[in-house]
Amino acid sequence: MNTWPSPPSDELSERRRRVVTAALRAAYAWTVREARPKKAMHEIARMTGVIMEAQGPGRAPNTPLDLVRALRSPLSKLSIFADSDDPVGQLALLGVDNELTPDVQDLICEYVMPLNVLTDSGRWLPDWTRMRAEQIRHQVFTAMIAMKKQEVYVASRRLLIEHPAGTAGEIGELVSKAGIRVASGYQAVPSRQLHRTELEKAWWWPCPECRWPMMVSRGVVRCGYRPHSCVYEVTKVLSNGRPTLRRIDEGSGPRKTPVARKAQDAVCLNVGVWRFIVVPGASELRIYTQLQSLGAGVELWPGFDSYDLRVTAGDQKFTVDVKEYRSVHRLISDLKAKPPRARVLLPRTHEHQYEALRAALPSLSITTEKRFLMQVRRALGTSGRAK
Ligand SMILES: [Zn+2]
Repeated sequence: MNTWPSPPSDELSERRRRVVTAALRAAYAWTVREARPKKAMHEIARMTGVIMEAQGPGRAPNTPLDLVRALRSPLSKLSIFADSDDPVGQLALLGVDNELTPDVQDLICEYVMPLNVLTDSGRWLPDWTRMRAEQIRHQVFTAMIAMKKQEVYVASRRLLIEHPAGTAGEIGELVSKAGIRVASGYQAVPSRQLHRTELEKAWWWPCPECRWPMMVSRGVVRCGYRPHSCVYEVTKVLSNGRPTLRRIDEGSGPRKTPVARKAQDAVCLNVGVWRFIVVPGASELRIYTQLQSLGAGVELWPGFDSYDLRVTAGDQKFTVDVKEYRSVHRLISDLKAKPPRARVLLPRTHEHQYEALRAALPSLSITTEKRFLMQVRRALGTSGRAK
């Protein structure tokens, strides 16, 4: 095996991606500069160098403090994004509170790429700031894949998706009962996802779509992933001390308002596992359940995730790969780099990407959640097996 790293790509889109990654790593480091001053400042200095290299000589930021200042403005202020129509350019990484903005976990993290594995001193950083989504998935499931048992793999993956948060006791019991190994652990719920009612009393709410603790900011509660669009405000505190929510977004649909859960002893999956396994997994399982209720035969993640769903409806068979990207730019690049092994399916929250994807990749087979369910219903109807 060749152990030399390949030189960084000169292609503009790859250079922009390096800049986003370096900016995110520097921004994360800035948020932990008090707890880990030496490592954080070293990382910011290194990432300044990465950005200077990617942008070319003579372009700001030239110093670590310049970079920190730049992180508070949209990325489009950097010269490398000057002519870009990529929506990532409109986003800033650091907020006025010196915390990462909500856009980081929503969209910016889709751009992350490894910078240089052999010389990378950033192993202390969370995986979602330095690894591609598929690397995170692979890392989490390595042990399960090694067991070569498809049913164990599927059960483990479902467990993470269906239980991304809970009390340490609940989660521990589920994991040991299922007899599976969850490589990536659960952690205490981060403070940005907690609401404090009085001294030492804190609460969290599961997102109605993905069940991960929603973000709490100045009494407004919503999932860190924008397509999970329910927004709430904290209203009153019940006599038992439990705070309650009221929905304030304009969306409709029958959604049960989440009930506050105590933060004490609560755990949740880390950001990387949530964003790249739980978030897409919530759509995959929703589509799986709908197909099953239509009467189709469905297998999840066959061949240890060759693609997402193998569907048998009457005498017809279908294979689909659910693609849930916030950035259609990133989706198109990834599909060009690695053609899918099954038809691409856009979930209901991403059906608006259909035309852009078709225009960019005309030979690609694409469907949407709605179209695909109709197709399966028809296949079942013609074979007379529909429930
Ligand atoms: Zn959510």
